[in-house]
Amino acid sequence: MIGQLGLGYQAWRAQWLSKPKLDQLRTKRLRHTLAIAAQLPFYRDHWKDVDLTEITGPADLRGLPTIGKPDFRGRLDDITVPTFNESNARVTYTSGSSGATLRLTHDWPSTLYCNAAWIRAHMAYGLKPHQRTAYFRFEPVKQGLTAKLRIFRNEFVPFESGDAILADLRRIRPHVLGGYPSYFADLIRMVPHDDLRALGVRWLYAGAETMPAPLAKQLKRIFDCPLIDMYGSTEFENMAFECTHGNRHVTDDSIILEVLNAEGEPAAPGEIGDIVVTGLRNDAMPLVRYRIGDRGAWSDQTCPCGRNFMLLPRLEGRSLEAVVTPTGKRYPVILLDEDLIHIDELFQFQVVQEAPDRLTLNLVCAPGTEAETTQRAVKALVDVFDEPMTVTPKVVSAIPRGSGGKVKAIIPLEQARGN
Ligand SMILES: [Zn+2]
Repeated sequence: MIGQLGLGYQAWRAQWLSKPKLDQLRTKRLRHTLAIAAQLPFYRDHWKDVDLTEITGPADLRGLPTIGKPDFRGRLDDITVPTFNESNARVTYTSGSSGATLRLTHDWPSTLYCNAAWIRAHMAYGLKPHQRTAYFRFEPVKQGLTAKLRIFRNEFVPFESGDAILADLRRIRPHVLGGYPSYFADLIRMVPHDDLRALGVRWLYAGAETMPAPLAKQLKRIFDCPLIDMYGSTEFENMAFECTHGNRHVTDDSIILEVLNAEGEPAAPGEIGDIVVTGLRNDAMPLVRYRIGDRGAWSDQTCPCGRNFMLLPRLEGRSLEAVVTPTGKRYPVILLDEDLIHIDELFQFQVVQEAPDRLTLNLVCAPGTEAETTQRAVKALVDVFDEPMTVTPKVVSAIPRGSGGKVKAIIPLEQARGN
């Protein structure tokens, strides 16, 4: 218990550290992580051409090769410290965008630190410990220490009928609604908007899937409150959070987040590139320069909130989720929804790439507006591309969920063909 509170305090303090103190902490944690990794067969092979004595701090990390899930599929025991197992560590699985799962082992101190980092993320945008969250996802999450202490209480709301959801929400009286964007899309279709607004929710927060811009706009209008996007993963837990200034800060005390350009070199501020992450907390399964599959851009600006954690103003979601045109141009969701954003009657969409030049646009529309919404959405999507693309609309009542209960805004060609 004392240990847990101690780690919580450390996480709380870390966000307010001066730049030199933060650099010191990151260097110390990185050296510790590299020392553990260097003992594991996977990294011994992977780093056989590297002189590890030259890697003395975060700036030297570029001297190490990056790793991805395909590199250690089948070699999980080689990347996990052998003294850790289900009896003394937390074992989780990720659902990859391909549907392939990966087993992850997290030691308990890192789990506790990451829990504290989630609490810190909630508090950064103003949530108080006594406030309640109602959340929607495909299954309830396990309740931890915070539930026992009755702080940041959260309650799972199952999706049965609109009436049942509303009854649950009226009983919980949540300050916050949290969940996957696809569940928010279902919510505003199943429950009358006046009833939702009357709940007086103060914040909405979304994660796990890419939030479609038209849905974000619709949610803000219905609930008349801010919508906060959290960036996290099963591998590293909370990776970035928003402060009250609306800036997204990377959790620099628990990860080193690098943005790499197409040549694999550090991207300049503002330049979109692949996100590569080194975990600084998990002694059971160190992930060093791990290609997480997301893209984004960092900023060298400082935030008036006083946190020295790096800013990540752009985040594109999973890099696999992109339409690739016949000439090879990539269109992630962030580009595709630029025009769709202006159609209020479009609640949710999904672009399925059937062929290099042919897309199916699945649409969830405001009732009674299907014909007009479809016409506008198709035009908006066709206009995004610099080359001719055929878009076939399909009005649906809900976007089907994929593996792990997630809904994807884009089903890329290779996955559409695999279905
Ligand atoms: Zn800030």
